[in-house]
Amino acid sequence: MKRLLLVLLAAGGAAYLWRRRQTSEPDASVSTFASPVSVSNEPPKLGGDVDPELLAILACPLDKQPVMREGNYLVCQECRRHYPIRDGIPVMLIDEALTPEQAAAAN
Ligand SMILES: [Zn+2]
Repeated sequence: MKRLLLVLLAAGGAAYLWRRRQTSEPDASVSTFASPVSVSNEPPKLGGDVDPELLAILACPLDKQPVMREGNYLVCQECRRHYPIRDGIPVMLIDEALTPEQAAAAN
């Protein structure tokens, strides 16, 4: 299960990097027809659909406890850290998570 999580993280990271590269290097054949507004490099949107089977196996990287979806975040049932979901990809990184205090301040 730990290995599967690492694979998921790697896949998410690769998708994120790929997306960034796509936006930072405009493709001439595409941008010719795109309006200037749509070329902006917008950050990944919070939220999106997460596969329920994926949700069921995800765990907090800190204490390995299950997470539950609350809005656009996956919340650890132990430490209450909030892991963001970006474009349907759960970001299970401690550095990216909101602490319970930060989550409370955001609400
Ligand atoms: Zn936790």
